[in-house]
Amino acid sequence: MSEGSEVRRAADKIAEAVLGRSIIDLQCKFMKNDMREKIIGSKVLSVDTYGKNIILHFSSNIYLRNHMMMWGKWRIYTRTEYDSGKAKPPVRVKWKKKLSKNKLGIVIGNRGENNTNHLDMNLISNVQNDPRTRLVLITETHVAVQFNGPILQFSEDDPLLHESISRLGPDALKPDLNIKDAKNRLNEKIKMKLVDLLLDQSFVAGVGNKYKSEILFLLKVWPFRLAKDLSSSEQEKLLHKIQEVLKAGYLNSGRTRQQRQGEPGKWNFRHWVFRRAGRPCWVCETPITMDRLSSSRITFWCPCCQQQEGNGIPKIKSS
Ligand SMILES: [Zn+2]
Repeated sequence: MSEGSEVRRAADKIAEAVLGRSIIDLQCKFMKNDMREKIIGSKVLSVDTYGKNIILHFSSNIYLRNHMMMWGKWRIYTRTEYDSGKAKPPVRVKWKKKLSKNKLGIVIGNRGENNTNHLDMNLISNVQNDPRTRLVLITETHVAVQFNGPILQFSEDDPLLHESISRLGPDALKPDLNIKDAKNRLNEKIKMKLVDLLLDQSFVAGVGNKYKSEILFLLKVWPFRLAKDLSSSEQEKLLHKIQEVLKAGYLNSGRTRQQRQGEPGKWNFRHWVFRRAGRPCWVCETPITMDRLSSSRITFWCPCCQQQEGNGIPKIKSS
C-alpha cells in the first residue's frame, strides 16, 4: 500500500542509498537505451515526493517519476548482498479469498482484509531472479530495486510540470500546505462524500484508503457525510487533521495510533479503525464496522463514535 506517508518513507530509504552517488549501472526493461546511457555516470541530485509520486533528479538533467499504485515496493541492498546473490526480494502476499455478507445479505467474496499474515512461503531467494523487478539502480555501495511499480517515467523535463502531477492538489505532507487553495478545491467538490473526497488527489495529494478511515475516525465524523455540509471551520479542521495524521504516519512507520504501555506491537494495535472490522473500538468498545457499497473503496468506522446525526448534518465534534 503506497499512501503519501509510506511513499515518503520509501523515498527517504532510496535517498540514503543513492543521494549524491553516481549511478554506475541501471537495469530497466522498459526504457530507451539513450536515456539509460544518459543516467549511467550521473549523480542523483535529489529524491523528492509529491503526493504518492517519487521523483529522482539526476545530474544529467534526467528525471524519473515513479508511482507505486497498490503493488509497488522499493528495497535497498548493499552491494555485498546484491553481488553475492544474497539479496532477498519482498515477501509475496497471497490474498486469501473469504466469504462475507454485504448489507443486503448477499454472500460476496473479499480479499481477506484481516488476513495479511497469510503468506506464500515459496520465496525466490535471490532478487536478481525475481520477475517482479522493474528497475535496478546500482551505485558503488548500494543497489535500489523497484518491484512491480507500474509507473516508471523517465523525462528530460521536470515531472512537476506534467499533468500527472500538476493537476494534483497540494501535498498533504509539505509543511507549507496552502489551506486557502485546499478549501477552494474542496468547495468545487461539495457534492462528494467525505470518503470519496479524501481519496480525490486533485483535492489534496497523498491520502489513501488507510488514512481516509483514520482521519474521519479521529474527527468523529460520519464517513458518508457530504462535503457541502461542512462549515468553513470544519473544512479547516479536516485539512489540519489530514496533515496531522499523515505526518504521524510518516514519523511512526505508518502507525496512526500510539502504542499504549504493555500493548503488543501487533498490526491490529497500530490503527484506530482501519482493517479492524468486528474488533472493539479503542474509545467506546463498539465493534468497528466496514462498508464496501456506499463509496468507491472499503471504509472502516465506528458506528458509535461516528454517528450520523438525526438532522442529517452531523458536526465534527473534535479537532
Ligand atoms: Zn467508538
